Amino acid sequence: MKYSIEYARQQDSDDRLAHFRAKFHLPRGSDGSESIYLCGNSLGLQPKSAESYVLQEIEDWKNLGVEGHMKARRPWIQYHEYLNAGMAEIAGALAPEIIVMNTLTVNLHLLMVSFYRPTSARYKILIEANAFPSDRYAVRSQLRFHGFDPDEGLIEAGSESAEQTITTEKMLDLLREHGDQISLILLGGVNYYNGQAFQLREICELGREKGCIIGYDLAHAAGNIPLHLHDWGVDFAVWCSYKYLNGGPGAPGAAFIHERHLHRSDLQRFHGWWGNDIAVRFDMLDRMQPSKTAEAWQLSNPPILSMAALLASLEIFQEAGIGNLREKSVKLTAYLEFLLKQISTDHFRIITPENSVERGCQLSLRLAQPNSEIMGDLRDRGVVCDWRAPDVIRIAPVPLYNSFQDVYDFVDILKDVLSE
Ligand SMILES: *Cc1c(COP(=O)(O)O)cnc(C)c1O
Repeated sequence: MKYSIEYARQQDSDDRLAHFRAKFHLPRGSDGSESIYLCGNSLGLQPKSAESYVLQEIEDWKNLGVEGHMKARRPWIQYHEYLNAGMAEIAGALAPEIIVMNTLTVNLHLLMVSFYRPTSARYKILIEANAFPSDRYAVRSQLRFHGFDPDEGLIEAGSESAEQTITTEKMLDLLREHGDQISLILLGGVNYYNGQAFQLREICELGREKGCIIGYDLAHAAGNIPLHLHDWGVDFAVWCSYKYLNGGPGAPGAAFIHERHLHRSDLQRFHGWWGNDIAVRFDMLDRMQPSKTAEAWQLSNPPILSMAALLASLEIFQEAGIGNLREKSVKLTAYLEFLLKQISTDHFRIITPENSVERGCQLSLRLAQPNSEIMGDLRDRGVVCDWRAPDVIRIAPVPLYNSFQDVYDFVDILKDVLSE
């Protein structure tokens, strides 16, 4: 019987990734019991190894001072390189296409400097109607920066459905109709609100055929769904690493620039010394000699302490394997969906698509009677998840550290809380 704690426990004992949970610190409630943490889409948990990675740099700084650049156990001078292979695997990219730097919105602007090059005939930007606000602010400010009216230049792919999902077919129709006016397509890989995953390959294919630049914001996709940015031919992508990637609060973000752009000399780009080719980076030349990798977009020397925590997490991802994680994730989220459907649907509707190809691990529940107090009740019972006004609860069982029992316990508690 699927709807039983015994079934959930059996799934956990059959789970080849179950031991990864022990590599993370689970927050505890005031009574000392482990929380049911379903909020990895907002801030991922701390890998237990992160502390020693950060301490190593603290110690090397203490003992070596400036010499740590060359003599730290992991020399700081090339620290960003240590993160490259792990991040490239997550993105489905070649190592030279990836750079870990800055934070998401900063990287989005830096890449729009290079890739949003509007002309009077083609200047529009396509986003999804329920895009994350920071993305909307960023593209509107870019339109204004280039002298266009943001209300006129921004196309928001909307949805008539209550779920606010935007079908791939609808997106493709929009491109067929307006593609020749669109300069940049900027989409979230997985929508932060309803958890919908776009068919990134199809959209990229038609978008490029129409002559648009394709940029993806993978904040909710990186570490959640399989990505093949290189093979899909995406022009650029940006993401943060404090959500599913467990890099810690304010962790450095990452950027992808497709190989075909790396050798171009006609691209606009904002420059800083760290973007120089590694061979001359410290020669203090008067003129830049940009790297032929995504490193060319680096401006500054990176925050080593934050990168150390992220490195600890990326190594866990490499050990677990993205394919294995996705396989478990599909099962874990399907189990959450199954259990939710057993409890009365008078209380809520799941607004995330049912098809696993169109979602990552998150399910969003829209309450029939919006009441944010329910969050306090869940919190009191040890559940950590989040609320998006006016009426949505987001639940994200993360395959690295959540268990089938977490999912079972959550639904059990939700049922109680809703019937109170
Ligand atoms: C989380 C998130 C951000 C956050 O941006 P920061 O620059 O990292 O603060 C931006 N866009 C999307 C789609 C997000 O989900």
